[in-house]
Amino acid sequence: MAGSRDRSWPPLPEPLPHPVVDDHTHLDHPAPGAGGFGGGSLPPTLAEQVERAVLVGVTRMVQIGCDLPAARWTDAVVRQEPALLGGVALHPNEVPLHAGVREVAPDGLQPDPREHHAVPLDDAMAEIAAIAAGNDRIRVVGETGLDFFRAGEEGRRVQREAFRAHIALAKELGLALQIHDRDAHADVVEVLLADGAPDRTVFHCFSGDAAMARLCVEQGWYLSFAGTVTFGAATGLREALREVPLGLLQVETDAPYLTPHPHRGRPNAPYLTAATTRRLAAELDVDLEHLCRTLWSTAEDLYGPW
Ligand SMILES: [Zn+2]
Repeated sequence: MAGSRDRSWPPLPEPLPHPVVDDHTHLDHPAPGAGGFGGGSLPPTLAEQVERAVLVGVTRMVQIGCDLPAARWTDAVVRQEPALLGGVALHPNEVPLHAGVREVAPDGLQPDPREHHAVPLDDAMAEIAAIAAGNDRIRVVGETGLDFFRAGEEGRRVQREAFRAHIALAKELGLALQIHDRDAHADVVEVLLADGAPDRTVFHCFSGDAAMARLCVEQGWYLSFAGTVTFGAATGLREALREVPLGLLQVETDAPYLTPHPHRGRPNAPYLTAATTRRLAAELDVDLEHLCRTLWSTAEDLYGPW
């Protein structure tokens, strides 16, 4: 991406023939430099995000709050905005910071602790559990899992413990589990099989190959595809997609990250779920409306009524 980057919002995709759910988004994360939908300097409000998504048929979204401030925010907004259900967890990259693990990551990019990381890991986990138990619009424990990209040995150890605590919480509360798996496929599967996965387990932003997809399908786990599936080099991911029965499929943005092709480098938002959904239909060679209806009913199976 040479030259000055275009940070403006991508145009609205063509509306879908039947509504879909954005299975995983972070409406609390600002999209740096993007401004408002109309070109003003202020970022879009939550109401504007929902309104723009609804215009193209993305009428429901699962808001994921995966650090303490984001979980508190999610707890509040899902009570006010009927288009949203919520998920809460401590992201695997948050866990070492709460545990006081200060390893230098292999890429040297491990973030500095922020104020909320002064809360010890056990207390932070207890707060997540209390939010999940105390709000009937929180339907997901996630995103949780393992992220070996930025973790050394000690970081991986505490991530694994926290992942197991999140699995136990999802089972205790009867909630769906959303998995974050970065460079840790074998270990994630091992923990899930050892502890017993919750009935509704979703790999968010699935990033495995066809063999990994087959393994997940055998276990009855759900695979959610983000904008990464549209990237030019992602042929292995598209092969994985073709292993997934429609009934185990979900679509998501992971906004404001992972903006689908041809808008890479620009900010992402739930309305762009419509673009990725069209690409899924094309890759799978299925009728778009049939795909949308199936994604919609699967989301209700996973998360219950909105
Ligand atoms: Zn995410």
